[in-house]
Amino acid sequence: MEVVEYGKRMLREGLVKGTSGNISVRVGDEVAISPGSMPYEEIGPDDVSIVDLEGNHLSGGRPSSETPLHTLVYRETDAAAVVHTHSIYATTLACTVDELPAVHYMIHTFGGDSIAVSDYERFGSDELAAAVHAALGDRRGVLLRNHGAVVHGPTLTRAYDLAVLLEWLSELYWRASIFGEPRILSHDQLAEVATEAGRRAYGGAEPSTDGEAETGS
Ligand SMILES: [Zn+2]
Repeated sequence: MEVVEYGKRMLREGLVKGTSGNISVRVGDEVAISPGSMPYEEIGPDDVSIVDLEGNHLSGGRPSSETPLHTLVYRETDAAAVVHTHSIYATTLACTVDELPAVHYMIHTFGGDSIAVSDYERFGSDELAAAVHAALGDRRGVLLRNHGAVVHGPTLTRAYDLAVLLEWLSELYWRASIFGEPRILSHDQLAEVATEAGRRAYGGAEPSTDGEAETGS
């Protein structure tokens, strides 16, 4: 099942270490979420936990400690998949800055001009879920103060790609900062990007040469 596959991929591609991070997928009123405190290599389909939208355990393994965070995102957004990582550049920024600004136009993919950093709350707490929800707003990604990152998408593939993109944007911002104060794109510049990406995705324009078309919506 997808949750097992993507858990292994997340570990292999360095977005998490050990048993940290977690992945979930919503199907109707149920959520399949990676089990808590279990190495990704050892997780099989039967270990994946099934909970309801309030986080009550229905079947499978013991649900991840961050289940309240995942279920709150499902209750409050149109997400069909949620990915939570401790990827190193995103987490590094979450320890230092108050937001990840528009250092690159691809940030428009998250549905806003920047990525916010939530307040710090203890892992696994309802307070963390609430803080993450408040900072997320109507965007698809958020950094968790001194903790990591959360993204959501309409499919697990899209959510995973956003986790990779958020890590890339975080690394880019860090690298750019080494040479000076990064130049930040304006709201108008980002709005123009979003309009063009939407036109290419839905308007049947000629194929993109470097992937912008896939960033629409
Ligand atoms: Zn975490």
